[in-house]
Amino acid sequence: MKNNEVIVIGAGLAGCEASLYLANHGVKVKLYEMKSIKKTPAQKLDDMAELVCSNSLKSDDIFSASGLLKKEMEMLGSSLIPIARACSVPSGGALSVDREKFAKEVTRQIKDNPNIQFINQVVEKFDTSLITIVACGPLIDDKLFEFINSIIGQDNCYFYDAIAPIISADSIDMTRAYWGNRYDKGETKDYLNCLLDKDEYLTFYKELINAKKVELHEFEKLKVFEGCMPVEVLAQRGEDALRYGPMKPVGLKDERQDKKPYAAVQLRKENMVGSALNMVGFQTNLIFSEQKRVFGLIPALKNAEFLRYGTMHRNSYINAPRVLNAYSNLKKHPNIFIAGQLSGVEGYVESMASGLYTAMNCLQLLKGKNLITLPSTTVLGAMQNYIASACEKDFQPMNANYGIVVAENLKNKQEKKQKIYEISVQEINKVLKLLQE
Ligand SMILES: Cc1cc2nc3c(=O)[nH]c(=O)nc-3n(C[C@H](O)[C@H](O)[C@H](O)COP(=O)(O)OP(=O)(O)OC[C@H]3O[C@@H](n4cnc5c(N)ncnc54)[C@H](O)[C@@H]3O)c2cc1C
Repeated sequence: MKNNEVIVIGAGLAGCEASLYLANHGVKVKLYEMKSIKKTPAQKLDDMAELVCSNSLKSDDIFSASGLLKKEMEMLGSSLIPIARACSVPSGGALSVDREKFAKEVTRQIKDNPNIQFINQVVEKFDTSLITIVACGPLIDDKLFEFINSIIGQDNCYFYDAIAPIISADSIDMTRAYWGNRYDKGETKDYLNCLLDKDEYLTFYKELINAKKVELHEFEKLKVFEGCMPVEVLAQRGEDALRYGPMKPVGLKDERQDKKPYAAVQLRKENMVGSALNMVGFQTNLIFSEQKRVFGLIPALKNAEFLRYGTMHRNSYINAPRVLNAYSNLKKHPNIFIAGQLSGVEGYVESMASGLYTAMNCLQLLKGKNLITLPSTTVLGAMQNYIASACEKDFQPMNANYGIVVAENLKNKQEKKQKIYEISVQEINKVLKLLQE
């Protein structure tokens, strides 16, 4: 290796996963973390790799997207998933951890590793000529985020998330929905219109305004509400507020009743094949079970499978499709890698996975070898390829879900999941061979 040192900024989930991978492959890592000097408003522990909210790393079923992602990570040499397993607490089919034990063990492994030099510092800027992984998370300290803005351009950074749910297309009842644009405009049919009559709308509306919401932290409130109104907050303005907003029925038709629908929700394709659909204007802060219950009152969505639930929280991230290569390094500065939530992935395991992927590519760079991508038939590949190639306009972070994984369209769901698993394992084995060359 011509140069054997990597700078990692941020000892959270992505930064710790990346540092341990590199260090375990003989690379000297300088890991910077600000926690002992300044905590983010969500942090409470002193140790690294803190899970700031839930203690769940989601499903451990290898036939679910999140479970398969963990399997892929373990095959590729993840350090954090085995630690999570060693610190797990019973939670049905999910992998949940004792967060203090988890953070302590990650910290111990980092501090005991002779290849990692740990530095307590609030980083404000860095030398762009050195190989660097920026893994500062959704609550990155302001000065460093400004510095990143100055490198990639102001318009490419976001400060909060207002995410609408994404639904699996094959779970929608097409007898109450149709593809088409308002007033039949345009050559392509871009929206799936889910229709409601008056009674259905009123039932939905009443349940929506009384549904249970997630409590926001004090630091999250201002930014969230300035920028984007959750659907349940808009509904509080009056019975018809949604019918003049995201549930506007104008220009749509209800052929079943040969009249204009009373209200409608439009879904837009989230990926090229149209297997995942985004609920337009339905950013929400309802708790997940309430999203399933209340949005399930929209007739076409009564059996909807949610690939991603809506969320709202302060979240700094970059416009990955505009500024990142598929290797997770900056187009303008290939030495600089962005990992974790800041790069446009969403979730604990996704952030760890992004740290691992970034570290694999850093190592390739240090060895003077070609950087690698993974095919979208793997969950990790699908997620990394998604953030690098999604629509730049209104880009929103993405979690691991089957809607973005490229798979054979088999009718039998279990068969389909089995096939996805088998192909994923084959592809990861191919990549492992490639990395050893
Ligand atoms: C309030 C909140 C709740 C969340 N809840 C969940 C949840 O329940 N489930 C889930 O799956 N995901 C959740 N997420 C999303 C996401 O999964 C987590 O934020 C995750 O920790 C992101 O991992 P990361 O490695 O990208 O960043 P982090 O784990 O946040 O790590 C970033 C690290 O960088 C450090 N840092 C920041 N700036 C600097 C600087 N300038 N210099 C030095 N160090 C710096 C920070 O102190 C931190 O330790 C939540 C996010 C937020 C903000």
